[in-house]
Amino acid sequence: SQITPSVYEIAVLPGDGIGVEVMQACVALLEAAQRLDRGPQLKLTRYDAGAQHYAKHGEALPERTLDAARAAHAVLFGAMGWPDVRYPDGTEPIPQLDLRMALDLYAGVRPIRWFPGLPKVLTDERAAGIDFVLVREQTEGLFYARGKGSINEAGESYDTMQITRRGTDRVSRFAFKLAEQRKRRRGQANVTCVDKANVFTSMAFFRDVFNDAAKDFPGVSFDHAYVDAMALTMIKKPWTLDVMVTENMFGDILSDLAAGLIGGMGMAPSADVGDHHGLFQPAHGTAPDIAGQGKANPGAMFLSGAMMLDWLADRHDQPELEQRARTIEAALEAVLGSGAVRPMEYGGDAGTKAMTDAVIAALPQAA
Ligand code: ATP
Ligand code: MG
Repeated sequence: SQITPSVYEIAVLPGDGIGVEVMQACVALLEAAQRLDRGPQLKLTRYDAGAQHYAKHGEALPERTLDAARAAHAVLFGAMGWPDVRYPDGTEPIPQLDLRMALDLYAGVRPIRWFPGLPKVLTDERAAGIDFVLVREQTEGLFYARGKGSINEAGESYDTMQITRRGTDRVSRFAFKLAEQRKRRRGQANVTCVDKANVFTSMAFFRDVFNDAAKDFPGVSFDHAYVDAMALTMIKKPWTLDVMVTENMFGDILSDLAAGLIGGMGMAPSADVGDHHGLFQPAHGTAPDIAGQGKANPGAMFLSGAMMLDWLADRHDQPELEQRARTIEAALEAVLGSGAVRPMEYGGDAGTKAMTDAVIAALPQAA
């Protein structure tokens, strides 16, 4: 087994816009939480990257930052991108996509869970039981087309979707293993393959490879859904959903829809995980419309920090880090559940700082 260090090196990439604001909040929370227990410490070191870094220095993802991300035990990521910042060819600097490819972070894990204090977007009482995870393949699919599309003289434009056996197999297995973990906690688990196998050859192939992988996980049930039907299910009865696995762009779209079920992007965390690296970031972007005003909800970033602790705990067999993740979640839930603090995102008056202070203050009781 791996030698377990007592200090974990975390490469912190705040990025642009509200990424910087929610990251500052998250680092303060993680440092406060680790002062309260005897578990391994995180050493959080900041590195430059992002659209604004590109605008000033001509590099969106400096070599030094990429090296640090590679060498670290985990990467904590804010958000990157800024309106009007473009490469000379007109495309947008998206360093998070470059990192995904460089670190082979093939599984995008997006948990959606409702808890008291979050907006009741759906009126049905069962919506309180929303607790599912979307696993998005994120090294191929329709995003394979990035930078490769074409427009011909006849006025026709083409992009290519790539589905490979290797890419589909590994993300399917990832989803089944995640379901096994959830089964230990919840007693049951199901994986739904979300595709469009009735129309596309590539998606029928995705489904076949998924079905093959399923044979190795007899303890977990599975089913299939077309992506359009899944969009409807997500609104009509999302409490029936458990683990879903899907192609890159379907996952991109469904994860924003899913975040809508819990009131917006501000409480939707995510993890980009591969076999060797893990990167943890809120599901939202840099939110230029509210950036610089102290209004951002740091909840998604906090929950992403907790996901990082869980991943480190599992990988290095450090139960104290898992305990710390539960403490952070419990503190956030206590603060929102009490109604004492209502984020501006939900029409309240608590900005980033008020929420951060409240969650940090709630840590001792949550521990
Ligand atoms: P990306 O291209 O990275 O997906 P985006 O352009 O889709 O980004 P986001 O930055 O995710 O957009 O923002 C979408 C909307 O949600 C915006 O109105 C933004 O203000 C809001 N939003 C996103 N994150 C938060 C947050 N943490 N707190 C409050 N509002 C947020
Ligand atoms: Mg978006």
